[in-house]
Amino acid sequence: MLDFVTALWLGFIGACIGSFLNVVAYRMPLGLSVVWKPSHCPKCGHDIRPRDNLPVLGWLILRGRCRDCGEPISPRYAIVEAAMGTAFFVLAYVELFSGAANLPAALADPAGALHSVVLPNWELIIVYGYHATLLSLLMAMGLIDQDRQRIPRGFLFFAAIVVCGFLSYQCWFLYPERTRNIRINEWKAPLDATSGAIWGAAAWLVPLVALRRRSSEPLQRFLRNAAIASAVTGSFLGLRPIVRIFAIWLFTLAGRRVIAVKWQVAISPLLLLWAATLVHILLWNRLADLFSW
Ligand SMILES: [Zn+2]
Repeated sequence: MLDFVTALWLGFIGACIGSFLNVVAYRMPLGLSVVWKPSHCPKCGHDIRPRDNLPVLGWLILRGRCRDCGEPISPRYAIVEAAMGTAFFVLAYVELFSGAANLPAALADPAGALHSVVLPNWELIIVYGYHATLLSLLMAMGLIDQDRQRIPRGFLFFAAIVVCGFLSYQCWFLYPERTRNIRINEWKAPLDATSGAIWGAAAWLVPLVALRRRSSEPLQRFLRNAAIASAVTGSFLGLRPIVRIFAIWLFTLAGRRVIAVKWQVAISPLLLLWAATLVHILLWNRLADLFSW
């Protein structure tokens, strides 16, 4: 019961973050303030009432229409909120309550939500927050790419600060403590993060530079966005995971074709990178066994 309530609460936070990411993805490329203006209907400009602003539920209560002008509101907002909420909910069970049993190096004995609420195990909570942060950044970048915008510099700067913050935490607290071999592991986290970022970005920067003259504007924009998103993923998770994520990503591109044919919606491949990354985090141990080298 405690597990379920805690997971539900985390899922609700995830859905609220999804709601915020919708706003970030819409406003940031246009250079608008992310924080200071309340959400409003893009058609008639009326502010959204607080009770209609609940993630997913607000859209369902309104049956996808604006309360003031009756214009349809895109289901995309509710889908993003539901996807983020579900991701946080599932990740709570698979990672937080299991003692990070999904990861190659287990952090603690599994004790369910007890370790997050009653007797907080901060190491576990930070690992959960780390992956939740990566998924949030990836979702924002996927939505920006979906809108055919370039990922803004301000966003990149923010992501870099987050990466550096978590890396310094790993260097000074997590790695040395886990193995008691400070000399090797002090450098392990930043080295792995750097090589993950370089390889993730290189996969897209090589074609971007090679095709510089001959590629169209939309292709250049996509390659640039994909390089940034892959570099962020690689710096969060490391070199081997980013290679495995690319392999999963290739499979999800088949799903993209199915959706394009069935609903006539072209999903940004970067949103599928979000899905591939989530799958990788959830099945990390099994995938590491499957493609070991
Ligand atoms: Zn309206």
